[in-house]
Amino acid sequence: MSIFEQLTQLQKGAEEKIAAAVSKEELEGLWTQFLGRKGGELTAILRSVKGLDPQERPLVGKVANEVKGAIEGLIAKRQELLYQANLEKRLSSEQLDVTLPGRWQEPGRAHILSQTLGRIKEIFKGLGYSVMAGPEIETDYYNFEALNIPANHPSREMWDSFFLRPGLLMRSHTSPNQVRVMERQDPPVRVVCPGKCYRRDAVDATHFWEFHQVEGLLVDERVTFADLKGTLELFAKAMFGERRRTRFNPSYFPFTEPSAEVMVDCFVCEGKGCRVCKNSGWIEIMGAGMVHPRVLQGVGYDSERYSGFAFGMGVERIAMLTYAIDDIRLFYEDDLRFLRQF
Ligand SMILES: [Zn+2]
Repeated sequence: MSIFEQLTQLQKGAEEKIAAAVSKEELEGLWTQFLGRKGGELTAILRSVKGLDPQERPLVGKVANEVKGAIEGLIAKRQELLYQANLEKRLSSEQLDVTLPGRWQEPGRAHILSQTLGRIKEIFKGLGYSVMAGPEIETDYYNFEALNIPANHPSREMWDSFFLRPGLLMRSHTSPNQVRVMERQDPPVRVVCPGKCYRRDAVDATHFWEFHQVEGLLVDERVTFADLKGTLELFAKAMFGERRRTRFNPSYFPFTEPSAEVMVDCFVCEGKGCRVCKNSGWIEIMGAGMVHPRVLQGVGYDSERYSGFAFGMGVERIAMLTYAIDDIRLFYEDDLRFLRQF
């Protein structure tokens, strides 16, 4: 077989194989097989040119180049064809039917306690209060002593606390924030301090060892109990409805004098008596009172010139009353069936 016949045959063989190729990888393999510089079939034929008559060589070279160009052209064409076919296939299979119904994505939402806390904060922000936070690990001084609860005082039993070591505990109420705020700024003070508290309570439907409180404090000149009543009555109406009435019963806290428990008339039975209000027609929503002069003096305020009121409420309790939830443990169980309702 002459070298020209060999080249013709090679081209014919290449044409057939290229026409049958179905992938980019296969075409790349064919390129190497026919045109590769090492072991390619065309290269092998050209190597044998050395034995030829020098006058024939230019012609052989010309034909070989034509064959090479033809094969390269075929490979490029086939590649384009395969690409187009593949593209069309993908376009038709991945077609988007815009008439299909969408997939529902359930949006996340704030936990019921966060929502309740958010509402409480908004109400007091509207009254010009700022929001501050304090540490969850407190010293004995801030948690008790600065709030007029000296060591060994029987009233300490009102707060059954988790001690980390002597003198250091998980705060058992948010009231320490009152002292921290007053130490930092001069009157007037108008602040609410939300946060987590911890007590060694036995867990039941209304008690949990971890819970949230919101502490409120207002100190200025000529602040009276009437200001306290007006503020908390406004809060009760904003939180539980315009028709709510409030009542202030005498109570006791070491850091307020006088002290009161704040009641609203039962919004479940409208005062007729039910399970929520224990048939009294009234529900306790928080503790409050006029800041004890000793607490003011402790932070260096002039208790002759300044007076103030403080209040503290349980966020869980407010949420339980608002949504008629009868077990505090539901807040912490992460049961979506419960949480989705709010
Ligand atoms: Zn009731």
